[in-house]
Amino acid sequence: MKILIAVKRVVDYNVKIRVKSDHTGVELNNIKMSMNPFDEIAVEEGVRLRELGAASELIAISIGSPSCQEVLRSAMALGADRSILVETEQFLEPLAIAHILKTIAEREKPDLIILGKQAIDDDCNQTGQMLAGLLGWPQGTFISDLKFEDHCAHVMREVDGGLEKLKLKLPAVITTDLRLNTPRYPKLPNIMKAKQKPLDIFKVNDLGIDITPRHQTLKVTEPSKRKAGIKVKDVQELVERLQQEAKVI
Ligand code: AMP
Repeated sequence: MKILIAVKRVVDYNVKIRVKSDHTGVELNNIKMSMNPFDEIAVEEGVRLRELGAASELIAISIGSPSCQEVLRSAMALGADRSILVETEQFLEPLAIAHILKTIAEREKPDLIILGKQAIDDDCNQTGQMLAGLLGWPQGTFISDLKFEDHCAHVMREVDGGLEKLKLKLPAVITTDLRLNTPRYPKLPNIMKAKQKPLDIFKVNDLGIDITPRHQTLKVTEPSKRKAGIKVKDVQELVERLQQEAKVI
């Protein structure tokens, strides 16, 4: 089974985000960037499937600036066999990303595509669903468990009020939730080996895809500051304040 894994380079989850002074976006200069955490889970799942003998080839793909090579090298240090970078300096919306992934999927013909459930920079949670729609493939989103039987993927999804089990015919698209696995740390020898693994680079314009943005960001602002809380001396004061000041009871 051949698996394509989408990995996005995003602002590291430990960084405190600052809005640019001109309100056009968030500050990205001199900021630590890393692989999107849900995509680390996607890579880990692919590596586990290969260790179990269920996967034969793992291909990591990233779309973005030349710096995305860092996340692709990280994916290869974790176990991906090779990588594809679709290079562009343009900001791309999930629909454009999904079209690019579809084009690469048509060339590579994977049995499974694994994406994160969402990118922590834009929180869109759209790419996997759009990709499955464009390809006409079954999708299992927010999965917390994955097994293979009879050339089908059996996935567990966390839904309101319980768990949903789905059986997907391959080829399929799945997106990872936090509970699917705990990604490993790459070992130093594997980091060194990853430098030698193949990384193909395509220019987005050579793929002949319409990547025109459908929406325009008008303004980005910081969330308003929360008012400081107060301490009350007893339950009676709490009830009085909730009634008279907050007027919620
Ligand atoms: P989103 O729909 O933007 O929240 O992203 C969901 C998932 O799509 C991410 O976790 C990635 O697996 C994939 N993805 C989104 N943007 C990119 C990108 N520029 N390069 C590679 N994968 C991406």
